Amino acid sequence: MLEVRNLEVVYDDVMQVLRGVSLRVPEGSVVALLGANGAGKTTLLRALSGLLDVHDGVIAKGSVLLDGEPIHGLRPAQVVRRGIGQVMEGRRILAELTVEENLRVGGHTARRDLAANLDRVYGLFPVLKTRRKGVSGYLSGGEQQMLALGRALMSGPRYLLLDEPSLGLAPTLVRQIRDLIAEINKQGVTVLLVEQNARMALSIAAHGYVLETGKVVMDKPAAELLADEDIREFYLGLG
Ligand code: ATP
Repeated sequence: MLEVRNLEVVYDDVMQVLRGVSLRVPEGSVVALLGANGAGKTTLLRALSGLLDVHDGVIAKGSVLLDGEPIHGLRPAQVVRRGIGQVMEGRRILAELTVEENLRVGGHTARRDLAANLDRVYGLFPVLKTRRKGVSGYLSGGEQQMLALGRALMSGPRYLLLDEPSLGLAPTLVRQIRDLIAEINKQGVTVLLVEQNARMALSIAAHGYVLETGKVVMDKPAAELLADEDIREFYLGLG
């Protein structure tokens, strides 16, 4: 279980972006975190993955627990070694490197399993195998998202944190990425899925949280969120 308790984050000494957020991601599940632009979703993920820079006026309080053990305060590489992988918003692949070089970078913390992890990633994303010697910058948006997912899987994570994997993708590609996330979950990886695309996220998540201006305002099974009138109006456009 990955758990966040009473997380508070303040930027620039005064701007409180998270106001006591608590959430739980049980092992084996897909949990969705929904919220509008600026609600604090990326900040929450950064706090989980050790990427929150707590210098320069950033103040963080609260705890992040992995199987009951505190992991807040760990550096990003240490968090990866504990089994938590992340795909940041905007994919951030290394555009000048080949597909396989990007994947090898992702696998540097798990060198012993490199070949097996590479096989697994190529099994999930055959297109990456076909393009393995190609320069990553020439991949399409959907292929780059697959590469970003594949790179995160190269460390053999038990948990995967995904920041808006559907952003900027055409609907057919969104469905493809969604199905791949479901498959990754079926293979045993627990997923925290941050999305503005509520329809996509709730179609594979068991449970969802809605974040508004730094607070959890809803915490419900995905089916109940899908049926909720406010969610239908604000997130699904079904007024
Ligand atoms: P988006 O979907 O646009 O990424 P979000 O829900 O992920 O939104 P955050 O990226 O966590 O929200 O940002 C929440 C607020 O904190 C925003 O107003 C943002 O401008 C601000 N913010 C984010 N990072 C910093 C930072 N390093 N320093 C100061 N303010 C920041």
